Amino acid sequence: MRLQTIDGETATLRAEIAALPKRLAALETRLAAERSAVEDAAKALKDEEALKRRLESDLKDQQQKIAKLRDQMSNVKTNEEYRAFQHEIEFAEAEIKKIEDRELESMERVEQLEQKRKAAESELKDNTKAVEIEKEDARAASVEQQKKLEDLTRRRAAERAVVPEELLRIYDHVAGSSRGTGVAYAQGQRCMGCQMYVRPQMWNQIRGGEIMTCESCGRLMYYDSSREPQPVAVVEKPKKRAKKVREAGVE
Ligand SMILES: [Zn+2]
Repeated sequence: MRLQTIDGETATLRAEIAALPKRLAALETRLAAERSAVEDAAKALKDEEALKRRLESDLKDQQQKIAKLRDQMSNVKTNEEYRAFQHEIEFAEAEIKKIEDRELESMERVEQLEQKRKAAESELKDNTKAVEIEKEDARAASVEQQKKLEDLTRRRAAERAVVPEELLRIYDHVAGSSRGTGVAYAQGQRCMGCQMYVRPQMWNQIRGGEIMTCESCGRLMYYDSSREPQPVAVVEKPKKRAKKVREAGVE
């Protein structure tokens, strides 16, 4: 039973040790997502900058075009020619209006993107700090866990050294199976590992101090009189007895 307790603690500890890198990896994944959110916002802002330069250049082109048209217009001879120039100027002015609208839209997007970038940056900064702290804690916990594991391994070896080889073989076989544990105490003529009744003859042997193998689950069964609330079990009243077993089990 002492070996089983140590094996149980070892399994729990190993699960904790295994869970740690997974948690750290999850934190790193979150940080990576936040980093890419910052990069995305920065890239979108850069794109808006490029668009702004292009629009400014287009605007200048249209303004130069209008100035040129006005120049040429002073030399026209006919009304028809004059109207043609007028029409071209109006067209260029409409283009300017469109460009200015696009500039305004871009400015609104830039404002939103700046806010988004700022939020993403501050979130990244906070979480980077939190992850650093968590990693530091994890490193400290890992050292403690390794020490505990070494201690358990030492105690396990000591316990195994005093258990007869045949019992160890059975214990390892059952504990290594899906049952998870290799030893159970017997109480009220039942194996407390699988809750199945044991035959009267076996029950007598167990109570006599022998270690028996449960015919249902294969666990090694032993008797512990301190766990038995009443020394004599009454087989004829299984319901009542079953209740007592449960009560005792809670204690
Ligand atoms: Zn059993």
